[in-house]
Amino acid sequence: MAGMTEEHSDSADIDPFERSESEVRSYCRNWPVVFDTASGSRLVDVHGRRYLDFFAGAGALNYGHNPPALKAPLLEYLARDGITHGLDMHTTAKARFLTTFRDLVLEPRGLDYRVQFPGPTGTNAVESALKLARKVTGRGSVVNFTNAFHGMTLGALAVTGNSMKRAGAGVPLVHTTPMPFDDYFDGAVPDFLWFERVLGDSGSSLDEPAAVIVETVQGEGGLNPARVEWLQGLAELCRRHGMLLIVDDVQMGVGRTGPFFSFEIAGIEPDIVCLSKSLSGYGLPMALVLIKPEHDVWEPGEHNGTFRGHNPAFVTATAALSEWWSDDVLEKATVEKGERVADELARIAADTPGAGMVVKGRGLARGLRCDRPEFAAAVCAAAFDRGLLMETAGPAGEVVKLLPPLTVGDDELDEGLALLGASVRAVRERVVP
Ligand code: PMP
Repeated sequence: MAGMTEEHSDSADIDPFERSESEVRSYCRNWPVVFDTASGSRLVDVHGRRYLDFFAGAGALNYGHNPPALKAPLLEYLARDGITHGLDMHTTAKARFLTTFRDLVLEPRGLDYRVQFPGPTGTNAVESALKLARKVTGRGSVVNFTNAFHGMTLGALAVTGNSMKRAGAGVPLVHTTPMPFDDYFDGAVPDFLWFERVLGDSGSSLDEPAAVIVETVQGEGGLNPARVEWLQGLAELCRRHGMLLIVDDVQMGVGRTGPFFSFEIAGIEPDIVCLSKSLSGYGLPMALVLIKPEHDVWEPGEHNGTFRGHNPAFVTATAALSEWWSDDVLEKATVEKGERVADELARIAADTPGAGMVVKGRGLARGLRCDRPEFAAAVCAAAFDRGLLMETAGPAGEVVKLLPPLTVGDDELDEGLALLGASVRAVRERVVP
């Protein structure tokens, strides 16, 4: 098993999981230890071993594990018997969240959105967005992009690229049309050439799409950043053809690339935005769909759900906005740390000739593409052996992915990058002795 060494493995520890848990489990296979506590950028396992977390809950822990600024209001809320489960009832916690979100996120950016709570996960937000776009436009099909990732429920899976994940559906995944993401042809074909052509050709067989769904940086797809001009061109194309623009900011939103919304750098205003992962700031499940007011055509209860009012998540989300989004300190630090990571990755790539390494990503969502997926997997396994948690991304898992908490300390960042460098060297020495 990748990453499993004598030092780290203790088969008795993982026995309950191997005996009882479904084969579908994934991340835990590469980190075969039992974690117990966590704080900031560090996790500790049952044997007291410490790990530096450069995966941050797949982007759900942008402020690190158990941040004190969120834990205190959460504990206080629970201790005073604040509402925990609230369907979609009016609660004080939800009121505070909505007001804070409007005051600290929407208004300062000149954005006007209605807020829908679609259920607690990213894929819930994507399902709602797709349904709503179809209802608004009366059209059935949605355009997605090569190597996109939007979630595991059938609607979201239909706009997801990965063939292994798609095969899990067991039914045809329909009503979607894939288009090339930015730089799919390495710049050889002008942007939107095919897309514009088929939209304008009544013989192309492309039905008028309801919407286009896009990630500004494809996370699972391999840390592929769309250029600002490409995003602007896409927004313009959507406007001209009456297609709604859905930005899936589930992974790249909440500051992962620097600004709160990843699309801010392009100055575009999507019709619908999906947010989740780091929104609660504490790893508590929570998701939002932001809807331009003119598109909020839902009937009451038309899209429903039991877990749309997880009030402890509203409490921590509100505290996170106050703590980190009252000014631009975190945004600037993220951009700066992201550049440091990119520089170091470039150095590692230059020191590793023959591995075909390319630096990818934006902000603190960075990747190191290797020419072979086995190399990337071996690097992550070697990193785990050194106490660094990282994962792979990309269609074949060929990209080593770095998602440290945005609040990672400078020395922790240096430490993690040094461990990564050592892991790459160790793998290279094994492959090319
Ligand atoms: N959209 C994007 C861009 C994602 O990265 C993910 C999760 N990796 C999802 C949607 C799905 O979120 P969840 O796993 O919470 O359903």
